[in-house]
Amino acid sequence: MASDIKLAEGPPSYDGPGFQATSFDKIIGLARANSLWPLPFATSCCGIEFMATMAARYDIARFGSERISFSPRQADMLLVAGTIAKKMAPVVKQVYLQMAEPRWVIAIGACASSGGIFDTYSVLQGIDRVIPVDVYVPGCPPRPEQILEAVMQVQELAHNESLRRRNSDEYQKLLASYSIQ
Ligand code: SF4
Repeated sequence: MASDIKLAEGPPSYDGPGFQATSFDKIIGLARANSLWPLPFATSCCGIEFMATMAARYDIARFGSERISFSPRQADMLLVAGTIAKKMAPVVKQVYLQMAEPRWVIAIGACASSGGIFDTYSVLQGIDRVIPVDVYVPGCPPRPEQILEAVMQVQELAHNESLRRRNSDEYQKLLASYSIQ
């Protein structure tokens, strides 16, 4: 029977009757990329766009990310959607610190990416002032398609990430630049 369901593509492997051999990091990458649990940190209007991304029309479940986590300890992907006041910056950082590795961050919209139109004393001019960001989504507000595109970019990162990356000197230096141990 014909089906519209598209299965995730398997990793390159050596196949034979009754066996399939591939490398461990490719299997882990495949699993991680297709089960990224988001933690939406929504403070203003961009959060509404994320709600639309979750709902039936755009249906983030198609990407294995319908399991929203409001606990940082069970989340893989921090989505910051909205204006972040400087008073809120330590909270964003604390949530990030409570997430287990590997973790990814998406800055949704102009406010989270750069402060947007709020070039004022009280607004953080981009969340990358306090935590590292993997993908930036431009726009005020961005459309749900753009948010899905960002999720797909994180999927690509997760899919291809080496199991040793989080222990690398380069990554440790990146965290150290944010005073994260
Ligand atoms: S980028 Fe625009 S839509 Fe998004 S939170 Fe800022 S003002 Fe609102």
